Amino acid sequence: MPGYPSDRSRERPRFPARLDSVTPVPHQKNTLSVAGGVARDVPVGVGLDSGAVRQRMVAKLVQQGLTDARVQAALATVERHRFVDSALVNQGYEDTSLPIGLGQTISKPSVVARMLSLLLESGSAHLGRVLEIGTGCGYQAALLAQVCTEVYSMERLRGLHEKARDNLRPLRLANVHLLLGDGMLGYAKGAPYAGIIAAAGGQRIPDCWLDQLAVGGRLVAPVVSVGTQQALLVVDKTSDGIRQCLLEGVLFVPLKSGVA
Ligand code: SAH
Repeated sequence: MPGYPSDRSRERPRFPARLDSVTPVPHQKNTLSVAGGVARDVPVGVGLDSGAVRQRMVAKLVQQGLTDARVQAALATVERHRFVDSALVNQGYEDTSLPIGLGQTISKPSVVARMLSLLLESGSAHLGRVLEIGTGCGYQAALLAQVCTEVYSMERLRGLHEKARDNLRPLRLANVHLLLGDGMLGYAKGAPYAGIIAAAGGQRIPDCWLDQLAVGGRLVAPVVSVGTQQALLVVDKTSDGIRQCLLEGVLFVPLKSGVA
């Protein structure tokens, strides 16, 4: 089967079935839960009322042009500080990318907002099934869960796949399926997708992504444009064929093949 490791026990998305036995971590003011449900003090600036900090982040993004109310609501809901390492929690709501381990980064909120807005632009009020390439720490998957019916999120690095699972577990998002596999092969089992979104940029868009996109669906991905520079590519699959649009320059980690 394309896009999936040989271990057949992993063929079906097991998330969230695995989570049934997990007790959700209650949201506690002034504290931040960490993996395993142990609470610790939050550094000044985020913990006292992280909802207000998120609202300020969203307000800034709105000033910069974010208009989609669904994206605004998702960004206001998902606690980004829970997806970054404890030493970086204070930067959780700054418009900056941050390291998430294994040489990878969580994208900056303005870029995430831009990509989600593009993904939702042409669709109905609530997008259907979406494939995300590059789960990373799971932040964008949590956002997608707010605005899509179902999210299939693939990560090629086992360490990050597991980190995302730990990060997402307390959120109990029944519509997110985390997959360990090479996203360059897509995930045919979940196809066709109303949307495909990639958080890593390659030289070109793999053909299978377009094959797995539904007619009427949209793909948003960074792609190498000139030299080593990347730009955002939007591809619409219509009954008349493929429509592509290359947008502004971006900086994403490289799309790599294989599982590691
Ligand atoms: N959306 C993520 C961003 C992660 S950075 C977040 O919110 O944190 C991009 C991720 O893409 C990295 O974790 C990298 O390992 C992953 N990646 C790169 N090539 C990939 C591939 N072929 N398949 C799946 N994941 C890939």
